Amino acid sequence: MNFFTHLECVKCGERFEPDKPWHTCPKCNGPLMARYDLERARQILKREEISRREASIWRYHELLPVQRSENRVSLGEGFTPLIRAKKLEKELDFSYLFIKDESQNPTGSFKSRGQATAISMALELGIKEVSIPSAGNAASAMSAYAAAAGLKAHVYMPEDSPTTFMTECKAFGARIYLIKGIITDCAKVASEDVKKYGRYDVSTLKEPYRLEGKKTMGYEIAEQMNWEIPDVIIYPTGGGTGLIGMWKAFDEMEKLGWIGRKRPRMVTVQPAGCAPIVKAFKEGKDHAEFWEGAQTIAYGLRVPAAVGDYLMLRILRESKGTAVAVSDEQIIEATKLMAKVQGIFACPEGGATLAAFKILREQNWIKDGERVILFNTGTGLKYPHVWK
Ligand SMILES: *Cc1c(COP(=O)(O)O)cnc(C)c1O
Repeated sequence: MNFFTHLECVKCGERFEPDKPWHTCPKCNGPLMARYDLERARQILKREEISRREASIWRYHELLPVQRSENRVSLGEGFTPLIRAKKLEKELDFSYLFIKDESQNPTGSFKSRGQATAISMALELGIKEVSIPSAGNAASAMSAYAAAAGLKAHVYMPEDSPTTFMTECKAFGARIYLIKGIITDCAKVASEDVKKYGRYDVSTLKEPYRLEGKKTMGYEIAEQMNWEIPDVIIYPTGGGTGLIGMWKAFDEMEKLGWIGRKRPRMVTVQPAGCAPIVKAFKEGKDHAEFWEGAQTIAYGLRVPAAVGDYLMLRILRESKGTAVAVSDEQIIEATKLMAKVQGIFACPEGGATLAAFKILREQNWIKDGERVILFNTGTGLKYPHVWK
C-alpha cells in the first residue's frame, strides 16, 4: 500500500504523473513536490502502528514515493537518536536542549536520507547513470547509494573540497570531476554533461525525491517527542531541503491527524562568510541575492544561491522563526564545546547550531523552559584540517 499520487509544481500548481523522470516544472521551472492522498491515509495509517516498525526512514514507506519494496535502496538511514543534551543544559543554564544526531546515518550525514529516496526512485524509473554537483556529503551519500543500487555515479566537486569526501566517493566507485570554483560552478558543468550524456540530475530541488527522504526528519522529531512539537528547531541551512522537507512533514502530519496546528519556530543558521538567506530575511525580502565570494569552513553551507530561497524565507516567517549568521571562529568554538561537554563530535555545520543557540539565548529570543532542537547534520571526522 502507498499513498503517493502525483507531483505538483510549488510555483504554478501544475500536476504531473510520476511515471517518468521529472526535474523542475517544464512550464515555469518551479520545484516539483510529491503529493499523497492524505485523506485516505488518515483513515488507514495510524501513528501507533508506525511506532512499532523498523528504525529507518522506511517506517513511513506509505508516505514515500517508492512504489515497489524491491526498489528500496537502504543502508539503514534515518531514525537517528534525539539526544537530550543534559550536560550542555547544565553548562548553558537551560532546561530543554536536544540534539538530533544525524552523524549516525550511513556515510556520516543526513544526506543519506535524501539519497536513499532519490536513488530508489532512479532505480524504479530505470535510470542507469546519476549526476550531482556537491561540496561533500551529498556526493558521498549519492555515491554510496548508487553503488548499492548498481548505478554509475558522476560527482562534480569544488577542487578545494576536503580530501576526505573525495576519498569516500572514490571508494564507492564514483567518477569524480574536480571543478575550479564553488558549488554553483560545479552545477554549471554538471548540467551541461547531464544534457550531453542523458544522465539523471540529483541536484537539490531539481529532483523531487530527495526532499521526501529529508522530510522524514520532521516525522521522526514528532514521533520521538511523543507527538508534541518542539518550540524551536535550529537548522544549518545550505540548499534548505531539510528545512523545506520538515515543514512539509508537519503539514502532512496535521492532515493525517497525527499532530495539531502547532509548529516549531524554525531558525536558519548560516556562516557569516555565506549568509544569503540571513541577509534576505533581515531585509524583509522574498528572494535572496547571490552571495559573492562565499567562504567558510562549513562546506555544506557554502551555497551562495539556493533554488528554494523563497520557500525557506516563507517558512521562517510563517513559523515566526528567525535567521542567524555566525563566524567560523564561533562555529569552531561551539563545535568543540559540544564535543567536550556532551560527547558529540559534530561537523562544523552542526556546531553552528549551538553557536546560534547561544546568540539567541543572549538575545532572550529563546526563553528558558522552551524545548529546543539542534540539528547535528553530520560527523566532525570528515574535517580533520578544521580541528587543528
Ligand atoms: C548539505 C549539508 C547541510 C545543508 O543542508 P540543506 O538541507 O541543503 O540546507 C548542512 N550540513 C551538512 C553537514 C551538509 O552536508
